[in-house]
Amino acid sequence: MATWLCVKQCGACCHLDPADRPDLDEYLSPEELELYLSMVGEGGWCINFDPINRECRIYAKRPRFCRVQADVFQDMYGIEAEELNDFAIECCLQQIEGVYGDRSLELLRFNREVGE
Ligand code: SF4
Ligand code: SF4
Repeated sequence: MATWLCVKQCGACCHLDPADRPDLDEYLSPEELELYLSMVGEGGWCINFDPINRECRIYAKRPRFCRVQADVFQDMYGIEAEELNDFAIECCLQQIEGVYGDRSLELLRFNREVGE
């Protein structure tokens, strides 16, 4: 069975370009949406993303909407805890394909490590 994990040095979900996420206002509160938009930097990447190491510079303090955890996904997307694993894998696949491409090393690495 595939088990979701965040693959190191990926960072695809830190590409925040709102043009790729037209339904942000459906799952973010007005305050969160404001915060989200304030984080969009050059090329659509989060201003807190370190592109060299592909890491979050504020990981311990990252916003709620950056966290893959049951209570957050229940709130934002109405996903039950038992659905979280498959839903998170699907989100990562879509994001990695969109940002790096469907033949990217990042996608290969994700599939290998997650066990897809
Ligand atoms: S897209 Fe998935 S694997 Fe890549 S950084 Fe985000 S959570 Fe981690
Ligand atoms: S705050 Fe951190 S985890 Fe959230 S999008 Fe920005 S770099 Fe990624």
